[in-house]
Amino acid sequence: MDGIYENFTTMVDRAAAILKLDRTQYEFAKFPEREMIVSVPVEMDDGTVTVFQGYRVQHSSLLGPYKGGVRFHPTVDHDSMRGLAGLMTLKCTLAGLPFGGAKGGVSVDPARLSHGELVRLTRRYTAMILPIIGPDVDIPAPDVGTDETIMGWIMDTYSMMAGKAIPGIVTGKPVELGGSRGRTEATGRGAVYVLREAMKRLRVPQDRCTAAVAGLGHVGRSAVRAMYETGIRLVALSDASGGILREEGLDVSAILEFKEKGGSLCDYQAPGVRHVSCCQVLETPCTVLALCTVQASVTEENAGDLQTQMVLECGNAQITSGAGDALEAREVTIIPDLVATAGGVIVDYFERVQNVQSLIWEQYEVDRMMKNIILKTFDQVWEAAVRLGVSLRMASYVIALEKVCDAKRIRGIFP
Ligand code: GLU
Repeated sequence: MDGIYENFTTMVDRAAAILKLDRTQYEFAKFPEREMIVSVPVEMDDGTVTVFQGYRVQHSSLLGPYKGGVRFHPTVDHDSMRGLAGLMTLKCTLAGLPFGGAKGGVSVDPARLSHGELVRLTRRYTAMILPIIGPDVDIPAPDVGTDETIMGWIMDTYSMMAGKAIPGIVTGKPVELGGSRGRTEATGRGAVYVLREAMKRLRVPQDRCTAAVAGLGHVGRSAVRAMYETGIRLVALSDASGGILREEGLDVSAILEFKEKGGSLCDYQAPGVRHVSCCQVLETPCTVLALCTVQASVTEENAGDLQTQMVLECGNAQITSGAGDALEAREVTIIPDLVATAGGVIVDYFERVQNVQSLIWEQYEVDRMMKNIILKTFDQVWEAAVRLGVSLRMASYVIALEKVCDAKRIRGIFP
């Protein structure tokens, strides 16, 4: 299976061919500007020291500070960081945000660390990447395996080194430290705003719509809640422990409450609920399959088994480029990650604006403004797909790459 970086460069090459760009005009967009690999020694609770591998890949600063999440997960490696950093550049550019793209992380399973070990890992990782981050340089945010609490520790570490509070060093931090209201739910809610708009345009009746959701982290849970509030019937869900299925519809409120308390779906019991594998959840016949897992849950091997009309890519890089082609050949509509996941970084942009100007916005204002930007972004992608006769996935790359290349042409190559 191709890695995330290779999928990214394949899609960039294909978008460049559609735009008829020659190598000189777009090749820069395939390479990160700067990459840092760090060793992160952590004193474990038993007194031994374990050295973890960490990364910060800065893909582009063409249109503003580098921007991208910090991921704590065993799948973190150089290839995934490079690919995900490139996706951040395109995502921010597509949404018209004044940011570049980056991604960072540590190869670690945070669930196996004690609280103290996790704090020490976060602080040491922050110290190791400190020379290349900054509130106007590179602004980290939550990603897989990290959350607002961890962003608070990054902010504290950076501020202690600077000798003053620097809230703008991260986004997605707790509201008490200057975080924006509505950040935790932003990615899932944004994805469902786009889904509803796509269903309207494709004339898919929402009241008869069924959904399966793979992955129940922050994004998956907020997407499930937003779909449920929209009246979509949730028939299958999975988390890392396995899946559950009920054709007549699952009791979403009860399941979300069970998950918030730390439950695993393999232990969830309710009348009529069948336990199935994660693969069976992907293969459930439904109107929409929402992908909210760590990465690449749909590959060329299993793309043919999906029985859905639409795929909502709520997490980054959930579908390999080959799997996307196979699905599109079967006329499955893919709502691509570059648009569907943008709610998080759009609200992070609002957080930066609030930090810089010492403003505090209410959640309904943040939500209204996020909806406005994400729907405008989707509209551009839809329009380009129709105009060029390509899929929404291809159109999202084409527009983002065109904007990046225009900016590069205007700025020129230094020196
Ligand atoms: N994990 C977020 C994403 O992939 C990062 C957003 C940000 O950097 O603000 O969109």
